[in-house]
Amino acid sequence: MPLEVVTTLRELIRRPSVNPMSKEAPSDTLFEQPVTDYVSSLLGSMDVTIYRQQIAKNRINIAARLDGSTPLNEGGKILVLEAHQDTVPVTGMTIDPFAAELREGRIWGRGACDVKSGIACILTVLSRLAEERPAPRPTVIAACTVDEEFGVTGARAFPQMWTDPTMLALPRVPDAIIVSEPTELEVVVAHKGTLRWKCQTQGRAAHSSRPQEGESAIYSMAKVINATQQYADTVVGQLASHPLAGSPTLSIGRVEGGISVNVVPDLCTIEIDRRIVPGENWEVAFEHFKNFLTTQVPDVTVTHEQPYSTTPGMSDQINEQLSSHLSKVIQEHGYPGRRVGVTYGTNAWAYAARDAPTVVFGPGSIQQAHTVDEWIEIEQLHRATDILYNFALQFGH
Ligand SMILES: [Zn+2]
Repeated sequence: MPLEVVTTLRELIRRPSVNPMSKEAPSDTLFEQPVTDYVSSLLGSMDVTIYRQQIAKNRINIAARLDGSTPLNEGGKILVLEAHQDTVPVTGMTIDPFAAELREGRIWGRGACDVKSGIACILTVLSRLAEERPAPRPTVIAACTVDEEFGVTGARAFPQMWTDPTMLALPRVPDAIIVSEPTELEVVVAHKGTLRWKCQTQGRAAHSSRPQEGESAIYSMAKVINATQQYADTVVGQLASHPLAGSPTLSIGRVEGGISVNVVPDLCTIEIDRRIVPGENWEVAFEHFKNFLTTQVPDVTVTHEQPYSTTPGMSDQINEQLSSHLSKVIQEHGYPGRRVGVTYGTNAWAYAARDAPTVVFGPGSIQQAHTVDEWIEIEQLHRATDILYNFALQFGH
């Protein structure tokens, strides 16, 4: 029996796979292992070959391969369906994150939308193909990667599985990769990347009863923050633009400084998020901002840490054929199947950067991702599964 997508999704939600995001203390709901084990057991019941790639402790990329009706060296095509196993944390949620409740035509819980729904869809598609063995059909690889929500370590490593002779042993990069994320059944063909780093101002500590003997790092940072706001409002948006992904943006997400109300603070730190549009270079973007501060606030010394996160955007340069094909299949199912750009990042850039035509597609809306009452419409779940299945059939021709 092929998998049933609703049951599969509910079982996935019941297994926590929370990304620790940074260095929070580990708890038993952290990391992807429970989901990896469940995916592993589902794949074990199918006639497919399973491969594992250890990324870190309790963090494993898992992929399954179903060979196509035509060998790859005789023109058979390679289709990869990918989804990430991790979710964002559950703090502040107003529903039980792991109950997988079914009501109002929706399934509720952490990961319902982002993106256990995608895992359920691609595994269901694989199980149907493995059982029905339609011909022609492409070689299909279903991959569930780790750590999308923070370090992107899973997606960065996954391409090594393609060519490794002990793993997928592909003779070339995949012909098409569909990355599951909530796109409301539209086709995302381009998206932005990110550049994130911390910077500091230093002062001189003093007792707050004699502040004139110290130098406040917070006052210095206030000047930096004002200049940064000016940069964000009037400068960064002019630096580049992409017809689908839009213009670059910049935002300060955190500020931290001082140890006590009665001490003049000697250190203040801010954390900056700069969105990179496809074609932009993060090093150039980083330098541009640093130079701006030097000119605008020459009296303040700002120390910039090396960025801890840099991901390029994904451009629509090499996915035109794939996106128009997928869009056509979506339209056959009665949906618009628009080809769009988005401002958020996904795993897709890591595969597009290896010259594999890649698009993002899946059920649900990004509006419901990471929310306090995350849900997915069951109708969308079924439609996404049917669309991916029919795309796979057509891609075999
Ligand atoms: Zn996601």
